[in-house]
Amino acid sequence: MANIPSVQLNNGVTMPQLGLGVYLVPDNETAATVAAALELGYRLIDTAAAYQNEEGVGQAVRASGIPRDEIFVTTKLWNAHHGYDKTLRAFDESLRKLGLDYVDLYLIHWPLPMKGLAGETWRALERIAKEGRARAIGLSNFTPAQIDQLLAQAEITPAALQIELHPTFNQPDVRKYASQHGITIESWYPLGGQRNKDSLLALPLLADLGKKYGKSPAQIVLRWHTQLGLVVIPKSSNPGRIKENSEIFDFTLAPDEVAAISALDTGVRLGPNPDTASFE
Ligand code: NAD
Repeated sequence: MANIPSVQLNNGVTMPQLGLGVYLVPDNETAATVAAALELGYRLIDTAAAYQNEEGVGQAVRASGIPRDEIFVTTKLWNAHHGYDKTLRAFDESLRKLGLDYVDLYLIHWPLPMKGLAGETWRALERIAKEGRARAIGLSNFTPAQIDQLLAQAEITPAALQIELHPTFNQPDVRKYASQHGITIESWYPLGGQRNKDSLLALPLLADLGKKYGKSPAQIVLRWHTQLGLVVIPKSSNPGRIKENSEIFDFTLAPDEVAAISALDTGVRLGPNPDTASFE
């Protein structure tokens, strides 16, 4: 079974450093996929209201026989539900679908600066945290400027920030900001995402390092994330790959190898821009 290390969030809660992302896993396949991951030793599952598979996640967590406090469940507030009251209702609905009494981490999925509701939405998350219904609260896709704005009125500093982050877009400025503010970064599109993973994983540097360590390019990339101190949540519904992705803690990249992977940065974002994304 995979032996996955943990990181400590700024409120003392510990979180596994590697988990399973379930974006694009159909709800009717989610329970089996999550069950396979839990069986392999995964203890962090990353879902969202928008992925429409919270029910499958909850079903697998509840049926696993693993004590609830040994599994870390993240879900996210969808864009249509910004605003204080709407957030509280959307959170109730997520808990109902999950069939759980609490989540470990609740995130605002996108900042939607054009709506101007992030402040009151965050106040609702603070209430949820104070009620003990989320052990930690955080943000996704917020920029440092957007977080600064939120912090000016916030009572609770976000524990985590989930953002697009992979070798070709590794966001050094945001990593520095997060470390100065005690915010843990989680990488989404850690392998480049469904559309770009083949071109990312074909980069010769990753193949060369894979040969050196007897690992796949995907394992090299995931190890790079964890050596940077990031939490990583690769998605797969293939049990072989779910296992492969967890077998990354038995080797260590040298500092110059970590730096060489970081130097693949092009500054080009593959996903939506947090300043302009307005979809619901
Ligand atoms: P990813 O980088 O995890 O890539 C997934 C793709 O890589 C899939 O096609 C999968 O089949 C493939 N893959 C997985 N393991 C592999 C391996 N070992 N070798 C080769 N290919 C492999 O992209 P993602 O799923 O978009 O992101 C991961 C998770 O991040 C999501 O599932 C979701 O939980 C989260 N996410 C969050 C946001 C956000 O806005 N907060 C956005 C996107 C994703």
